[in-house]
Amino acid sequence: MTVTEPAPIAPTAPAAAAGWRLENTYASLPPVLHSAVAPTPVREPRLLLLNRPLAASLGLSPEALSGPDAAEVFAGNRLAPGSTPLAQAYAGHQYGHFTPLGDGRAHLLGEQITPRGERFDLQLKGSGPTPYSRRGDGRAALGPMLREYLIGEAMHALGIPSTRALAVTSTGEEVWRQEGALPGAVLTRVAASHLRVGTFEWAAAVASQTDDSALRALLDYTLRRHYPELERAENRALALLEAVIERQAALIVRWMSVGFVHGVMNTDNMALSGETIDYGPCAFIDSYDPATVFSSIDEHGRYAYGNQPRVAQWNLARFAETLMPLLHPEETRAVELATAAVQGFADRFLHHSLASMRRKLGLLDAADDDKALIEGLLTWMQRSKADFNNTFAALSAADTSALAALSDEEFCAWHALWQERLRRQGRLEESLAVRRAANPVLIPRNHLVEAALAAAVAGDLAPFQRLLDQLSRPYDHEHPPAAEYRSPAPKSLEVYRTFCGT
Ligand code: AMP
Ligand code: MG
Repeated sequence: MTVTEPAPIAPTAPAAAAGWRLENTYASLPPVLHSAVAPTPVREPRLLLLNRPLAASLGLSPEALSGPDAAEVFAGNRLAPGSTPLAQAYAGHQYGHFTPLGDGRAHLLGEQITPRGERFDLQLKGSGPTPYSRRGDGRAALGPMLREYLIGEAMHALGIPSTRALAVTSTGEEVWRQEGALPGAVLTRVAASHLRVGTFEWAAAVASQTDDSALRALLDYTLRRHYPELERAENRALALLEAVIERQAALIVRWMSVGFVHGVMNTDNMALSGETIDYGPCAFIDSYDPATVFSSIDEHGRYAYGNQPRVAQWNLARFAETLMPLLHPEETRAVELATAAVQGFADRFLHHSLASMRRKLGLLDAADDDKALIEGLLTWMQRSKADFNNTFAALSAADTSALAALSDEEFCAWHALWQERLRRQGRLEESLAVRRAANPVLIPRNHLVEAALAAAVAGDLAPFQRLLDQLSRPYDHEHPPAAEYRSPAPKSLEVYRTFCGT
């Protein structure tokens, strides 16, 4: 399939009614970083989901976006006013191997300027082939797009930085995957940006001894977009590297604090904004085991729950490498600066991790034995295969004495130590509030996600809507959802595998 000029697509009616305020600053970056290409229209677009609160926060009118016109826009059949559709070029280390990639089935429509003056990428995913499609069809199946919608919203409600879905549109077309013919869909994704570690890897790969202008332009652009406070830093490349490392350390800690396994932490799936991006084979752990892997293709556990900090650091080392010529004119000095920054990830991660665990246990200040206390609980959880999130939720009850009575000796001993620490600390109400804000009563349980997606793909969106609604209040300890939403997977469903469904 060849893709050349953007197909002529009629623009939609008045921008004002819907609230479109689109710019595309990415289009002004050096041409090697993107390709102008329009979405390929689909046969029969139908709007299945519109994220009304998100639309409103973007300054878009949920009412104006509910009509048939909106389905046309969200399917890529018509362009929203101000759209300059393009596919972004990027590369990536996938399972450790460098590959040139790029948006093979996505179109950046532009950046929506919100009423508060913020700038968010609006991207269609599954909207047709681009010059980067390789052998792919440019399309997406409905199930995985609904999954991205659901998990993105769950993450957002959990307070974890994430890209979000604005809409899901069915296409009326089939896509062919391993499983056979599946209903097709287009997802509209909202992101702080789609700049990835892989974007810099692409820019570094195309740079030559005499021309690294794309790399430099990307540095300027990334700083302006996400780290404007660093634009005047003395060493801007180093400032960016350190800032990205900090955000990633904080992000991975947030993931792990709710048992999230991303599942495919390739460098093209690591956003420089610090948002979680690309919900493929991701899943949440039930019982606590750092070796947990869900993805069927992750044979060696590269992206296992407990390996996520190590992989993040590995990815950040690849990012640092791309910045080498901008870090320092002398190579040895550049290597020293990059190495020190990347090594700094470990301390940042530990710092955030300890702070996060203290909050989860309601510890309001630091004490010498906190590490031992935290490790004691994790060791018990792993040995007894306790449910990670439900254990912390149970520790967020006003009175946890019954819990100790119900459990084994090892837990009782730990519980006594913890209670002693809380007594020494005092401020019991504050401690409880901190725990409740850190420990969700609800995460998207894998078996419920699967059931909701299966029903939705078969035409019944009701279970999906119900789950979505429940997941919007994950910290409501006063009104927890019914047990069916909170229980880990029944034994029969325990071995959960995710597939890189696309
Ligand atoms: P992902 O695994 O979703 O992060 O995608 C990795 C790369 O494969 C990206 O460059 C995607 O654009 C590309 N890709 C995934 N699915 C398709 C498809 N159906 N058609 C074309 N490109 C695709
Ligand atoms: Mg990706």
